Amino acid sequence: MARGEAGIDHCPPGGDAGARALAKLLGVDARPYDRSRGIRKPAQLALIVEADCIGCTKCIQACPVDAIVGAPKFMHTVVDALCTGCELCVPACPVDCIVMLPP
Ligand code: SF4
Ligand code: SF4
Repeated sequence: MARGEAGIDHCPPGGDAGARALAKLLGVDARPYDRSRGIRKPAQLALIVEADCIGCTKCIQACPVDAIVGAPKFMHTVVDALCTGCELCVPACPVDCIVMLPP
């Protein structure tokens, strides 16, 4: 964005307020965020239903911020303080034991 190569409207998590703030910061015209890039949602956190976890480690590999801890064939868990709510771990789980909840 600083180089003028990306628009100020590309961040659904920031919503319209984020797009406005970026426009002001960069001195460009304000516009709503681009809905084709995703829909802004309320904040959420991943929760692993630990009793159902088979310890396959696929969620660890899918998480871009290293918010999941665990070892092969042992229960895994989410570190709430690190989870961004991106949902990338949910489809990675072969036993569907990851749910998204309000923080
Ligand atoms: S929701 Fe995203 S950040 Fe949170 S644990 Fe899953 S992959 Fe990691
Ligand atoms: S992907 Fe699902 S089953 Fe595999 S370690 Fe993560 S939570 Fe457990």
